[in-house]
Amino acid sequence: MTDYQTIMVNGKIACVWDGRTAHCKKCNTAIGWGITTNNKRMPFDLVQLDPTKPRYEAHWANCPNRDDFRRVEKPKQSEGLHDR
Ligand SMILES: [Zn+2]
Repeated sequence: MTDYQTIMVNGKIACVWDGRTAHCKKCNTAIGWGITTNNKRMPFDLVQLDPTKPRYEAHWANCPNRDDFRRVEKPKQSEGLHDR
């Protein structure tokens, strides 16, 4: 069953999330994978920042191994990781 919803990551990055969860391979934190409007995968922490809104924080902001995300996802230099 898929239950798509639009969520907001870091307060400004709209993502579509199919509701599936996973665990970060590096730190074992529970995360979800959203898809941004640019069709990029966005890992986010499953902690809902606002109980009334689907707001989450990007996992790489908290992951102790965030450099690994940089290598895997290869975001453009002009946007992404340092834009938080
Ligand atoms: Zn992690």
